[in-house]
Amino acid sequence: MVLQVVTLFPEMLSGLLDHSMLKRAQERAGVEIRLVGLRPFGVGTHRTTDDYPFGGGPGMVLRVDVVVPAVEWAMMHHQAPATVLWTSPQGRRLDQHWCRELASLDHIIIVAGHYEGIDERAREIVGGTEVSIGDYVLTGGELPAMVLVDAITRLRPGVLGAERGAAEDSFGEIGGYLEGPQYTRPEVYRLKAVPSVLLSGHHQNIRQWREAQGLERTKQRRPDLLDGQIDA
Ligand code: SAM
Repeated sequence: MVLQVVTLFPEMLSGLLDHSMLKRAQERAGVEIRLVGLRPFGVGTHRTTDDYPFGGGPGMVLRVDVVVPAVEWAMMHHQAPATVLWTSPQGRRLDQHWCRELASLDHIIIVAGHYEGIDERAREIVGGTEVSIGDYVLTGGELPAMVLVDAITRLRPGVLGAERGAAEDSFGEIGGYLEGPQYTRPEVYRLKAVPSVLLSGHHQNIRQWREAQGLERTKQRRPDLLDGQIDA
């Protein structure tokens, strides 16, 4: 899989790619994550990437004649046709189900906006889908882009390792419930003991306990996830 992020600030993101799961995904799971800076596509001697909004108003807007060539250049990097995602608070809200669909693709280009956003014509020309990571407004699309990269990448085969599957996480394929509580050493801390079933070594009892905990937690915290599945 090739995942590319088109951004005005690639240096903001490069450090994140060198750690933990994202590093492992690139080294061992055949995921190529590539940052495409907008600055080289800027216009004029100053490589300008933004300009004032037509009609007036606050802030700046990323230029269509900068963003479109950058995305088209990224498209040429990989043979497989690209799915283009435009980060935007106005987009379709990201969820785990959509992440699973995205994780099955070969080539994704994520465009990070900045300032007041991107000239509307860029998405009209290139196509693609606007994606929001929640109903709040961030300064730029760099963090949303990395949220997407992380959420998609960890669902690729081989990334999390054989010992652990994403299906057991919250919103996993089985039921879509929340995951139950987790514990580690020490067994007792400030009089609070780890549930004894987890120390029993009885795998079936542990699995059943975890499922029940996940279901209970889902009823308490996110009953909407159970709508239509059981009598919550
Ligand atoms: N003026 C825009 C509006 O009101 O819809 C907001 C622009 S925001 C300050 C700048 C950029 O941050 C956006 O173009 C987008 O790339 C990114 N962004 C901000 N909030 C986001 C969110 N919730 N989800 C995805 N991207 C977001």
